[in-house]
Amino acid sequence: MTDDDGNPHGNADNNPDGNPIIPQDHPRAQSLHYRHTLVEAMHQKIVTPSGLCAHGRGEAFDYLLGEITTPIAQSAIKAALAALLMAKHPVISVNGNVAALVGEELVTLSHLLDIPLEINIFYQAPGRLEAIEALMRSFGAKNLLGVGDFTPAIISELSSNRRIVDPRGIYKADVVLVPLEDGDRTEALVAAGKYIITIDLNPLSRTAQKANITIVDNIVRVIPAMIKFAKSMRNLTREELDEIVNQFDQPQNLKQSLEYIIKYIKTHIN
Ligand code: ATP
Ligand code: MG
Repeated sequence: MTDDDGNPHGNADNNPDGNPIIPQDHPRAQSLHYRHTLVEAMHQKIVTPSGLCAHGRGEAFDYLLGEITTPIAQSAIKAALAALLMAKHPVISVNGNVAALVGEELVTLSHLLDIPLEINIFYQAPGRLEAIEALMRSFGAKNLLGVGDFTPAIISELSSNRRIVDPRGIYKADVVLVPLEDGDRTEALVAAGKYIITIDLNPLSRTAQKANITIVDNIVRVIPAMIKFAKSMRNLTREELDEIVNQFDQPQNLKQSLEYIIKYIKTHIN
């Protein structure tokens, strides 16, 4: 038995964990791998059913980018790194999808750049925060905020429970990387005067439109690329970093990302 992707469901073709074995030559092997990772993480309370929907929304846009890191996204990645390296109090916000997809790579990036990770989630089911924390700790996360004993600070521009943040992290941060973020929260963080960097496959989302730097790419490609570039960019002078941020043009970045999608679609019309 197979699903629409030709993906086997029968018991004989399943891993011991019950997930189907994904043939390596399957055209969507990578995408299927990440789907199973997220489903597995949902069973562990790390990801919510809404998180699965959000991932599907992202994947649709990934198709329209040809599932690659475009040169436009690469420039945005470099600008994001420069802004993070120049920040006084940078922080990287981590939600369930982010932890499940690239938790390990984020720990590497956090240590490389000496930037704390702050767990901040919308759906606070009992045990969920602890499950995400345990996953991040299993990857060796040292500088982990938003967990344990702390007196919460409030982002007054926000009404949901995500207004509660860590005073050592997002609350006092000048530059915040908020990947896969919701528009309300991005708007609130911008209104609170923070410089916002996001990773969002949809260049039309409110988050993508409101952020200061939007990396229009899949987070599973972005974080490894950030690790790679961070190794050399760490050695740049303040002036050189400043130049990279100043040369980055967010309206052009969004416009070119949309143009890239239009061109990609046009090459497929015959
Ligand atoms: P907004 O609230 O900003 O208007 P939205 O309501 O359309 O966005 P949300 O579910 O709030 O969507 O936010 C999730 C965002 O993350 C979506 O824009 C989606 O495209 C994006 N996304 C999901 N998975 C990934 C991924 N793996 N890499 C990059 N972006 C992703
Ligand atoms: Mg939203």
